[in-house]
Amino acid sequence: MALASELVRNALSSAVAGVWICSIAWVIADARSRLPKARQVHLATAGVGLLPVAGLLVWLAARPRKTLTERWTEELRGVLFADAAETGACPVCRTDLERDFRTCPGCGLELEQPCEACGTPVQAMQDACPECGRPAVDAEPLLRAAAH
Ligand SMILES: [Zn+2]
Ligand SMILES: [Zn+2]
Repeated sequence: MALASELVRNALSSAVAGVWICSIAWVIADARSRLPKARQVHLATAGVGLLPVAGLLVWLAARPRKTLTERWTEELRGVLFADAAETGACPVCRTDLERDFRTCPGCGLELEQPCEACGTPVQAMQDACPECGRPAVDAEPLLRAAAH
C-alpha cells in the first residue's frame, strides 16, 4: 500500500511540475510576442516561475492586449490611411483616389478604417464618420510619428 501511495504522489507531483514548466514556456513565448523589451520578458517569466499559479493569473490579467505585430500593423495602416487622406493619392502607388473608394484601384491598399467612436468603416477621403459624425483621424500627428 505504501508503494502505491508513493507512486500516486510521484505521479501527482510530476504532473504539477509538468503544468508549471509548460506555463513558464507559454508565458515566455506569449511575453515575447507582446513586450518590446527583453527585460520585461524576463520579469514576466520570473514572476510565473516564482509564483506558479498566481504568477500566471497576474500575467493573464496584466499582459498587453495586443501583440507587437498587431500593434505594428495597426500603426502602419493608420499612417498609410492618414497619408492618403492628406494627399488624396494612394501612398503606395500614387493613384488618385475618389472619396468613396474602399480600396485603391491601383494596388488594392485598404482605404478604410473603423470609426473610433462607433466602429463604422470610414474611408480615407471622408472627413467624418458617416454614421456618428466623429471627425476622421487627424493625419498630422500620425505622419509626424511616422517620420521619426
Ligand atoms: Zn495604390
Ligand atoms: Zn462613428
